[in-house]
Amino acid sequence: MLLKLQNIGKIYDSNDILTIGIRGVNLELDYNEFVIIEGESGSGKSTLLNVIGANDTYEEGELYFEGMETSHYSESEWEKYREQNIATVFQDFNIIENLTVLENVELALLRIENRSERIRIAKSLIERVGLSKQANQKGSRLSGGEKQRTVIARALAKDSPIILADEPTGNLDVKSSKEVAALLKEVSKDKLVIVVTHNPEYFHQYATRKVRIYDGRVSEDTVIEKPDTSRKVEKKVVKPATKKQNLKNTFWLGVLNYKSRPRFTSLMSCALIIAAITVFMVLTLFSGSLIQPMTATLDEVPIEGKVIVSTEDGLLEEMEVSQIAGATEAGYFLEDNDISSFTIEIAKASGMLDAYTVHCVYAPYQYALEAGNAVLVLPSSASKDAETIKNTFLGANAGLHTIEVEKTLTSNQVILYIGYDDLTQNGKKIEAINSEMKIGDDTAIAYTFEINEALLPGEVNLVNSNFWDVKDKGVVLSVKANQAYTIVNDDELNESVSGVIVQMNAEDYNAIFNEVIVEGEESCLYFATDELAQAAIAKLPEGYIGLLSTSEIFVQDAGEVFTTNIIYYLALIAISFCFAMIISIIFMRSIKIYQTDFTVYRTLGISRRISSRSLYIQMALMFVPTLFLLPLISFVATVIPGSGMTFISLGNYIFIEILMLLIVEIVAYGFNKNISGQSIRKSLRRGSK
Ligand code: ADP
Ligand code: MG
Repeated sequence: MLLKLQNIGKIYDSNDILTIGIRGVNLELDYNEFVIIEGESGSGKSTLLNVIGANDTYEEGELYFEGMETSHYSESEWEKYREQNIATVFQDFNIIENLTVLENVELALLRIENRSERIRIAKSLIERVGLSKQANQKGSRLSGGEKQRTVIARALAKDSPIILADEPTGNLDVKSSKEVAALLKEVSKDKLVIVVTHNPEYFHQYATRKVRIYDGRVSEDTVIEKPDTSRKVEKKVVKPATKKQNLKNTFWLGVLNYKSRPRFTSLMSCALIIAAITVFMVLTLFSGSLIQPMTATLDEVPIEGKVIVSTEDGLLEEMEVSQIAGATEAGYFLEDNDISSFTIEIAKASGMLDAYTVHCVYAPYQYALEAGNAVLVLPSSASKDAETIKNTFLGANAGLHTIEVEKTLTSNQVILYIGYDDLTQNGKKIEAINSEMKIGDDTAIAYTFEINEALLPGEVNLVNSNFWDVKDKGVVLSVKANQAYTIVNDDELNESVSGVIVQMNAEDYNAIFNEVIVEGEESCLYFATDELAQAAIAKLPEGYIGLLSTSEIFVQDAGEVFTTNIIYYLALIAISFCFAMIISIIFMRSIKIYQTDFTVYRTLGISRRISSRSLYIQMALMFVPTLFLLPLISFVATVIPGSGMTFISLGNYIFIEILMLLIVEIVAYGFNKNISGQSIRKSLRRGSK
């Protein structure tokens, strides 16, 4: 005996109201039977079918399957029971509307490892129910009859001994109903088919037995035709799926879920990329790196092989430096307090508000620069302004005549590399470009300086200052802050430059720009590499201190750095949390659709483990586009003129991607918790509404 129901009872308890589904049901059912179950609405027919199909539990009596008790079954045993023995056909078709007929049928064939074999069988079953033409059509575009035939093909694909059909013709027209009834009969060979129906007329000619349910009890049980028990039905041995196959199926299901709802998946991917970009912007805003370093380099623009030399008393004569340089075989330059970088503000072409800070750096080894030649390195986002920056230097009469422009994606610093000759002979002139001057109480910018022999010492002309009224006023230049000059003439014009040119007598000019630097507090030695420099530092004579310009030093206020770091973290966590919420909300809104899909998976015997794990795959797939969209968008941002953005750093990229993956997988986890632990019956009811 395939199935034996002994005193089976099912009581529903919803909000403390107890309803009897079925009670005291005794039935014996076997292979080759075609049973129709009739009864009024609410009499318990569906309950009976759900108990047999293990879509619902029973509370009373005992269900014997092949002579064995089932009341002690655990959830996984019921899962196995469903997987191996039950195929269902419901009134509301129960197909996954977003999948094609072929995919729907394939879902029931996951036990077959070979994909092409699976497709071959699915196709032959589809042909058997007469849907070959519609094989690649989405479920949502099928007629009711076609949907029901798809479900029958799927039930067949399961190849299980018991087929349960709950009002399979309930939503069909007469013609389709007849076809479905005939199809069920056709597939019933060697199987137990139980059909609940309000339209017994379609099934009478096929039925071998008729059961009537009244008020949860069997009120009539008529055998129309004795089942053919002579044919022995071979019990199939189902070998359990291997780990590898389960993994493959999980992956396949994940991809299927992902593909089946393109609108939803692209919405999720969009939300994710927006989240990723927001986090990226926040990181960039907060100084470009996630965490403020506790240490900084000694030099603002550290250069390989540069050693900053100083003494304990702070004074260093040029002679001494020259001796040390000789002893360590270094190139050297003695200078003022500053190392060898200074800042020049240049108005952006796009507007007056922003300015570039150009670091002028003496680069003895990166570039072998001859006198008058320089290299300007600037971020791609500033390339629109490259010409203006270049011309500012070339037009200032500061000795530079050729500037080569190089673009970079990885840094947002603007650096002008100059050679040794320009550093020693024109360094001051370059430094004076766009320097400040004070006229009375006002501050103005002097673009550059020129000699005008017609002027007396202490007198200056301001060319291009026609829009001010500064004649006869005093001016103090920041390049020579210890002296005031008198402005003699302020209405000369020079159309070829846009800034103010300060003209002065040769004597004054030379006093500013030809001043020879003889001593300073710090001095620099230059070596080809950091390694050579390190070796030289070790050999410095007593009393001298040498540090690599790339050396890391502790920033002054570690406490402050610590506080800002905590603020960054909190800001990032808050933002990620907001996005996780938004993404969860989008996801939870679609929970109903997925709930139905997942319930269908379970009725097909796909284990809960596989279906819930497939969700993680599906979510991971939604995350995949961010992997390349984030760097792409970051790249676009760096080449947009004026954006001032730099290309995303590897650290930030990895951090953001891990964050996004975490967000989706946490959402998947929450979703999983939400859909598991519900009875199939309940979710079906909810989902179909
Ligand atoms: P039928 O399929 O014969 O129309 P059902 O088996 O669906 O009847 O229902 C039998 C009885 O059980 C009805 O009184 C119905 O209201 C009740 N019932 C069915 N499912 C539930 C449920 N999930 N919760 C509470 N009561 C239920
Ligand atoms: Mg019913």
